[in-house]
Amino acid sequence: MDLKEFHRRSIEDREAFWAEQATLIDWHAPFTKVLDDSRLPFTRWFVDGQTNLCHNAIDRHLAAQSDKPALIFVSTETGDERTYTFGQLHREVQRMAAIMQALGVRRGERVLIYLPMIPEALFAMYACARIGAIHTVVFGGFASHSLATRIDDAAPVLIVSADGGSRGGKVVPYKPLLDEAIGLSSHKPAHVLMVDRKLTPFSRVADRDQDYAALREQHLEAQVPVTWLESNDISYILYTSGTTGKPKGVQRDVGGHAVALAASMKHIFCGQAGETYFSSSDIGWVVGHSYIVYGPLIAGMATIVYEGTPLRPDAGILWKLVEQHKVSVMFSAPTAIRVLKKQDPSYLTKYDTSGLRTLFLAGEPLDEPTAKWIAEGIGRPIIDNYWQTETGWPILSVAHGVEKTPTRFGSPGMPMYGYDVRLLHEQTGEEVGNNEKGVVAIVPPLPPGCLQTIWQDDKRFVDTYFSSIPGRQVYSTFDWGIRDDDGYYFILGRTDDVINVAGHRLGTREIEESLSSHSAVAECAVVGVADQLKGQVAMAFVVLKDPALVEAQQGRLKLEGDLMATVDRQLGAVARPSRVHFVTVLPKTRSGKVLRRSIQALCEGRDPGDLTTIEDPMALEQVRGAIAPA
Ligand code: ATP
Ligand code: MG
Repeated sequence: MDLKEFHRRSIEDREAFWAEQATLIDWHAPFTKVLDDSRLPFTRWFVDGQTNLCHNAIDRHLAAQSDKPALIFVSTETGDERTYTFGQLHREVQRMAAIMQALGVRRGERVLIYLPMIPEALFAMYACARIGAIHTVVFGGFASHSLATRIDDAAPVLIVSADGGSRGGKVVPYKPLLDEAIGLSSHKPAHVLMVDRKLTPFSRVADRDQDYAALREQHLEAQVPVTWLESNDISYILYTSGTTGKPKGVQRDVGGHAVALAASMKHIFCGQAGETYFSSSDIGWVVGHSYIVYGPLIAGMATIVYEGTPLRPDAGILWKLVEQHKVSVMFSAPTAIRVLKKQDPSYLTKYDTSGLRTLFLAGEPLDEPTAKWIAEGIGRPIIDNYWQTETGWPILSVAHGVEKTPTRFGSPGMPMYGYDVRLLHEQTGEEVGNNEKGVVAIVPPLPPGCLQTIWQDDKRFVDTYFSSIPGRQVYSTFDWGIRDDDGYYFILGRTDDVINVAGHRLGTREIEESLSSHSAVAECAVVGVADQLKGQVAMAFVVLKDPALVEAQQGRLKLEGDLMATVDRQLGAVARPSRVHFVTVLPKTRSGKVLRRSIQALCEGRDPGDLTTIEDPMALEQVRGAIAPA
């Protein structure tokens, strides 16, 4: 079928379209109405329908695939490898569900999950889904302050955690951070369920802290039936990355979520039951929720749960896993690929990845050189896809399950079915033409799977997302985009990442793209810095593939000049960064996104702002050092 026609139908004949997609999952009771859009921008999908995410991910496959792998756990940190079949997973999840019930967790209550990438984290998520509790997963790399604000916001009755995780071969204790967080928060959970991996000793709080292994023994034979939920009940809360400020508690439903994931697995990811899906993300992020935990299993695929980095034991590990587990669909992020770019490229061809149909990449702009580098390196097709925590599944991509539309380097593709995407003028709200820059916006109703609201803050939901474009109530992504004459979109960066140099409006992304085209560059960040004369000037921070190049002053000056000349040639002198600074690491969020707002603040001598989600505070010190007058 023709993708454009498929898309047109999803917008013009919305209810019929989604009623069809809804047949991809099991319903315990049918819905009476496909779409209730009587209270826009709030949307309710599949009204009165009863279903359950855990049933659709696990129970539904028991008849045909009970003995087939469902969850493949690999830790290159501890050396553990465990595979659970659908049947075994079904039993583990019921045990976990029974433990939660015994600890007093009821339908609609929150369970906060603060765990590394271990199977128990998924058991806990599925168990919540099974009994109708609302999970809120907090990325295991967050420290006590970030954790405390999320405990206060979500008010969980139970927290599931572990003694520790491990990263790059070093044990990271979780429990002291958790105890500190509970000390800081005003809400206190009734219980903490501890998975003891025996990685690091920890202290227990009597009565409050419970031992998972001991309780599991008591509930080995547990049979916990699925709680049927109304489609619009809440399945989970997940906080956004916080790249642009205070994280928002994205709230998602049950039925729309299940249908959206099932449909995306079929049309976009083209995963088949019985195959293996590997996403190198983390359960703490939306990619982990959609495409580690729920999507693959809903499609009857096995999912790989990987605890480890892309570099250990060596830079071939991701491809080794692809070969070993016959991965057919893989999902990673540009940031992971840029990490590999600094390594020996022979790792890309060391393993047999011929079974891999497609590598999907998302999370940050995928610049053309990086896309080409990886596509040629592994010799497999790459598909960029653009979306947000808020939407839960791709807004822009190609849907090879519908039509084999060619991809274009640098473009995440076209609007996916269900999304009425428009490019709007920031000030007038009018639609811009082809090849003109506009804010990427979506006309409501948002399709199934998108956020229902911000947890306990309907006003913030409306004010944040639906009030920024003058004159019309549309959802703003806060990203700039442009569409070419063939309908391919290009993301030009975030709306707050635009700089104004002597009256010229430039996306920092375009300058970054230009710098990245220089063969010495591994990755870079460009920010606009206030300038008395020009309003703003661009300032660049560059990480090199080979840092030795700039060890000597002479090398540094030469390369800075070369990079400026590259921008001059490609974009013109207005876009030329006033300085190019060399650093070995960029300040990023824990999810791998560059914190441009913090770099900019430092450059302008301001406070770098909310840093709760920063990966490595030392990266900011490097920026500080780089800009300090010599
Ligand atoms: P916050 O909203 O709290 O500032 P965040 O926007 O970083 O955090 P996410 O929802 O994880 O949180 O990220 C979504 C954003 O990531 C998008 O709005 C876009 O800016 C960027 N993004 C994701 N995928 C792509 C892609 N394929 N190409 C370009 N940008 C992308
Ligand atoms: Mg965002």
